[in-house]
Amino acid sequence: MAKQDYYELLGVQRNAGEDEIKKAFRKLAVKYHPDKNPDNRKEAEEKFKGVAEAYDVLSDAQKRRRYDQFGHEGLRGAGVHTYTDFSFEDILRAFGFGSDAGDNIFGDLFGGARGRGRARRGADIEHTLVVSLEEAVLGAERKTLNIARRDLCKSCSGTGARVGTKPVPCSQCRGVGQVQQTSGFFSIRTTCPRCRGRGEIIQSPCTTCDGTGHQLKRVTIDMPVQAGSYDGMTYRLAGQGEPGPNGTPPGDLYCHVRVKPHKFFERRGEDLYCQVPISFPQAALGAKIDVPTIEGKTAVLTIHKGAQSGELLSMRGLGVPSRGKRGSQIVQVVIEVPRKLTGDQEDLLRKYAETEDINVTPHRKSFLENIKELLH
Ligand SMILES: [Zn+2]
Ligand SMILES: [Zn+2]
Repeated sequence: MAKQDYYELLGVQRNAGEDEIKKAFRKLAVKYHPDKNPDNRKEAEEKFKGVAEAYDVLSDAQKRRRYDQFGHEGLRGAGVHTYTDFSFEDILRAFGFGSDAGDNIFGDLFGGARGRGRARRGADIEHTLVVSLEEAVLGAERKTLNIARRDLCKSCSGTGARVGTKPVPCSQCRGVGQVQQTSGFFSIRTTCPRCRGRGEIIQSPCTTCDGTGHQLKRVTIDMPVQAGSYDGMTYRLAGQGEPGPNGTPPGDLYCHVRVKPHKFFERRGEDLYCQVPISFPQAALGAKIDVPTIEGKTAVLTIHKGAQSGELLSMRGLGVPSRGKRGSQIVQVVIEVPRKLTGDQEDLLRKYAETEDINVTPHRKSFLENIKELLH
């Protein structure tokens, strides 16, 4: 089977410039994207692999010159990628398009330069910050995170080589970090076994970091917690991740918020729920009582006449801040029955029961009263 012409594959003229070739490749990447070809993904991917191979050659000045002069024959042994074992996303990433998230591929393709930069930067790290409900609701000016982070080794500045020495380019991959294995028509690109993809060899490793170029360090980072933060939300602290290789930008720190359960309040959306005991007369006659708020102060709650046990009473503006407003504090009133009554209280309550014609257990004479009667 004769190999198709690379220029035809990309749909460009033989004198096409670098930008034109890149544009053509992008256009075809969009055309063959798996999401755009739900009925024939496999076929689209195979076609895209052909396009990728063409782009690999035509975007590389040296390979392109050889191809122009000698055709496909001229590229034998020149390290042309056939991308047999690569997925669509792998290929895009190999060319520096797209970030790790598959969703971003289209955005990066259309958006341009961002893709290349993000591919080479430090790793992101994650951390969990535990806060109280008060801090989550009202915010905290400063919370200190104590994080173990891989930082560049101070002794060797991240090179991994002993002070006074330098890493040398790997002889097996000539500094590329990958090697080509060709068997017949197919060629597969793998990580160089000698340098493990670094492209260089450290002959005498740094004694501080054992040649890794990194040191695990404890660092403290201060961050504010916004009012209205909630359990499960994540803050992104740009540039607070691990340092990038060879002086590239550091990764980000993703800080997940966990909110400790509160003894008195329970958050539901933008409202704060709590339970407050009231007495039967307060419920029956109405009352004004002091209720604790999340600020640690108290606010007056008006209980209307005839409030029922379990009824929810709303205190506006004392809940969780959200978009310039605040939710409510919702108070569930629970009527408490006294465990003990004084003699006067019992008499009054019995009289009350008579007015309502309710059956109550008969008055039991106390021990003292019995004795009094016996003495008469
Ligand atoms: Zn070191
Ligand atoms: Zn190597």
